[in-house]
Formats: sequence, C-alpha cells, structure tokens
Amino acid sequence: MHTLKGFGVSPGVVIGTVKVLHAEEVMVPKTQVRDSEIPNEIARFEDALTKTRAELLGIRRKISQEIGRDHSDIFNAHLLILEDRTLIEDVIGLIKEEKVSTEYAFSIILQRYFHAFSQIDDEYLRERIADIRDIGKRVLQHLMSHERESLVSLHEAVIVVAHDLSPSDTATMDRKNVIGFATDIGGPTSHTAIMARSMEIPAVVGLERVSKEVSNGDRLIIDGTHGIVILKPDESTIEKYLSEGKKFALYILELEKLRNLPAETQDGHTIELAANIEFPDEIPSVISHGAQGIGLYRTEYFYLNRTDLPNEEEQFIAYKQVAEQMKSGSVIVRTLDLGGDKFLPSMDVPKEMNPFLGWRAIRLCLTRVDVFRAQLRAILRASAFGKFKIMYPMISNIDEIRQARQIYRSVEEELDKQGIQYDKKMQVGAMIEIPSAAITSDALAKEVNFFSIGTNDLIQYALAVDRVNEKIAYLYQPTHPAILRLIAQTIKNAHENKIWVGVCGEMSGDPISALLLVGMGVDELSTSPFVLPKIKKAIRSVLYKDIKAMAEKVLREFHTADEIRNFVEKELNRMIPGFTEEYLV
Ligand code: PEP
Ligand code: MG
Repeated sequence: MHTLKGFGVSPGVVIGTVKVLHAEEVMVPKTQVRDSEIPNEIARFEDALTKTRAELLGIRRKISQEIGRDHSDIFNAHLLILEDRTLIEDVIGLIKEEKVSTEYAFSIILQRYFHAFSQIDDEYLRERIADIRDIGKRVLQHLMSHERESLVSLHEAVIVVAHDLSPSDTATMDRKNVIGFATDIGGPTSHTAIMARSMEIPAVVGLERVSKEVSNGDRLIIDGTHGIVILKPDESTIEKYLSEGKKFALYILELEKLRNLPAETQDGHTIELAANIEFPDEIPSVISHGAQGIGLYRTEYFYLNRTDLPNEEEQFIAYKQVAEQMKSGSVIVRTLDLGGDKFLPSMDVPKEMNPFLGWRAIRLCLTRVDVFRAQLRAILRASAFGKFKIMYPMISNIDEIRQARQIYRSVEEELDKQGIQYDKKMQVGAMIEIPSAAITSDALAKEVNFFSIGTNDLIQYALAVDRVNEKIAYLYQPTHPAILRLIAQTIKNAHENKIWVGVCGEMSGDPISALLLVGMGVDELSTSPFVLPKIKKAIRSVLYKDIKAMAEKVLREFHTADEIRNFVEKELNRMIPGFTEEYLV
C-alpha cells in the first residue's frame, strides 16, 4: 500500500481498477499480458512498424521534393533501424518470454540499444542514438495512439491514470465507464479537473509520479475530497473508504432536497445560479442539480472529439437539442474557445511558444471567419427553439467586440434574406478573462448586454501563472487582492452601465470565493452542476448584508491572498456554524 498526495479537484471516493494512459515518452511502466494476448501484442508491434515506415517514407519524399535529395537521405538511417531484424526479434522475444506489453518490451530494448551505443568509442555511431530515440518515439506514438483510442470504448469501469489528460482525451473517452481520474500534472482549473466535475467523478491531479507508479489492472482508491490516492490498498483501508464513499453519497442526496429552492440569502437577496457544461448530454445533470440555466456552454468540446470540423448543420442540431432540453432556463453559448491547451487536429494550428497567449478563441474566430460564421449561423438558428445568449471568449479590446458584432450582423442579414427564424433580441456578452478587459470594462460595458468573468484565465493572466502547471500552483491565488480588485472594478462598471455580470470560472464553485463574489455584488454564478447544491445551501445560510460588509472589509483592509482567505473562512464560520467542516472538506 502506498499513499500519494495531490490536489483534490472533484470530490467523492472511488475504489477501482487502473487504466494507465502513458505519456509519449520512451520509458513506459511494465504491463503484463496474458498468454492469449501475445499474438495480438506482436501484431500491434508489426502494425506500428508499418505505420512508422509509411510516415518516414512520406517525410522523406516531401523533404526530397521541397529541399533536395541530400537532406532526405538522413531518413535512410531511420528506415534501416526500423527494418533491423535483431531489434525486431529482440522485442518479439521479450514480449513472449516475459509476457509484457509491446510498449514495455520495445522501450526496454530501446534502452539496451541506447546503453550499447553510448559505450561505443566512435562519434558517428554515438550520434545514431538520436536517430534511435526519434524512431522510438514515433513507434511508441503509434502504439500509444492505439492506447488512447482504447479509451474510446471501454469494456469495464476504470480509473484513468495519466501523466496528463488533454481536452481531446477527455472529449473522446467512453465517459460512462470512467469512474475516476488521477494525473501527474494539473491544478484545480485544468481542464482535467473541470471535466471530472462535469462527469461527477472523483479526481486528484498534480500527483507528480502516479502514472509511473501504477500498472494496468492495479487497485486504486481516489479520494477527490482530500486529494489522496492510495495504491494497492489493504482490506481495512478499503473498508474505511467504502464507508467514506457512502457518507459522501448521503450528503449529496441531502443537498438534492434544495433543488427547487432559489439561491436566496436569508434577507431576500437572490442571485442566478447556473451550470457550466461541455456536452449536451450533461443537461439531465444540470436539471437534477437545480441549475436555473446554463451559464457557460463550452462549445469547443464539440470540435475536439472528432478529426474534422463540424459543419453548420451538425452544430445546429446539437445546439437545438440543448435549447429544447433547457426550455425552463436560459443558455449562454460561448463561441469557440479553441487554442491554448485545446487543439483541433483538423485546423492545423501551428505550434506556438506560448499557446495560452497565442492564436486562440476570438482571435482565431476573427481570422477564420468561415469557421466563426458557421458557428454563429448554427447558434442563431437554434436560438429560435429556446432562450439563448451568446458570449465571446478572450476579449482583450473593444475592436474585437466590434468586429465580432459586424460578422454577427451580417449573419443576421443573411438569415433574414433566407427567411430563417432566430431570436432577434438575443443578448450578447463578453467574457472578462484578460486583465485589459477588466481594466477597460467601463468602455466595454457600453458595447455588450452582459459580462461573464472567466476567473480561471483572469487569474492565469493577471498573476502570470500557468493554470495547468502544478509546480507554481501555490501562486494561483483566486483571493489575491489584484484579482479581487479586477473583479470589483468589473462589477462596478457593469452596474453603472446597467448590465448584469456573472462569474463562470471555478471561483464560483468554491464556497469561500463564491460567497465573497456574492458579497461583492455579482448577479450570477455558474459552475459545475455537481457543486451547485452546496453553493446554493451556503448562499441560503447567510445574510446579504453580512457578506457585503465582509467583502467591503476584504477590499479595504487586506493585502495578501492567505489573509483574505483566512478572514473570509473565519467570518463564514461565524455566520454558518460548522462551515469549515461541512463546506471545505
Ligand atoms: C475561465 O477562463 O474562467 C472560463 C470559464 O473559461 P475556460 O475555463 O473554458 O477557459
Ligand atoms: Mg477561459
């Protein structure tokens, strides 16, 4: 038995069997296979060699045509390594003798080659190590893509363990059979964390080495509430966690009783409580957790779980389904927020040094107007079937809003000409998630119908802290005075201009920051459906005048994130006896 500590990003307890998704690197952990699986492992190896060979021939051809024959000859050495009978036989021999997976056997043989070549007293041969490493990576990538594909249809319930899970991994996996996540990297606002909360499964991220320490089929406990992962637990630990899991399930059932009650403080101040979704199939959970609407529909996930771009019609069908299912509440559809860590293979976005600061979201849409128009047409057409609002991500200046509006108007005109119905009074909003937008929110407020503050990115950009890097997670501080001042300024500017302002970042899902935001005057909070009932219960337990005074004091008197968090926690414990025990574990 062995315990690892990370960040608990989605609460609850789960005990299950591990499925490891390996990083694309040369060393992979040992995975045993059954006798009956050996022929399949050998076939997978041969298939990966064939695919790598085809890939190299393609690159050689391209280089020969574009740069010249001399340069393409370097790939001859790669091709020779791929055809090396000794290497192939060594790998197959190891699979058969040790009954291990192809990836493992191949990586072990590669290590032996590296070792042997590094001992050779000949510079030319020593340099061939780089070729072997490159070939190794390519073959492993083909083997891994098989593995990544294997997540698409799982035959049993598994806990997915990985170095990292990309949004496209989570978008394509068989979500019914995934019961927990544990990853080496990531913080509370990484997309793995957000997806886990959407899927209502326990998750712990930022565990540093978990993907190296487990093998397929191992038993694992994930305690997402406390950020703990236990490898190969003994029977008494399993018993203890089974009972923890039951307690948590009962608490969730208890909270469900609040479903139809408003998010209203004891002195009658009401706010709108909405849910964030990535996929239309989350709507039953949105409704069952009592959300009044959808405050953030991350439409880019529709683009991520496929290799081609969805056309207008496909998007229209999906958005219409969302509109119809959410008849009772409004839906804020966010236009494509691709880029950053959300890549789309079909869109050929070039690799960037700083993808989070790069060609993404509204920037990408304003240059790929064809893609943007198709999405706007689909959203507008679907708006005839429900209560839609639309918002643009990553707005950094007024020009972007104006350009987007121009395209939006021309799409409206086109629909008018074609006699297609849509909501002519749809509200259009801007996400405030870049400091420049918060600082100029007085002017931006005159251009839109509402603001939705994306605190996940606002914190990342204002504090210069990569939101998915666990090494600097201690600097990712939602209660940093700079963040609270940017939010306060945005709320004030929105209200002075008579528009409403919500928060759709993860600050809305943490009881401490959620109550602070309500005290600061936000009109709406939107977060994972799963955590909504708890936030509602907390709001219903306090007086607005108290949390307003608390927020004013915070902004006036405190200078560090920890001081603020501690003060708010202390105040909330005074207002809600047992707050820490009930809300913060
Ligand atoms: C945010 O940045 O706070 C947000 C809600 O958007 P996302 O997490 O999708 O970047
Ligand atoms: Mg964002």
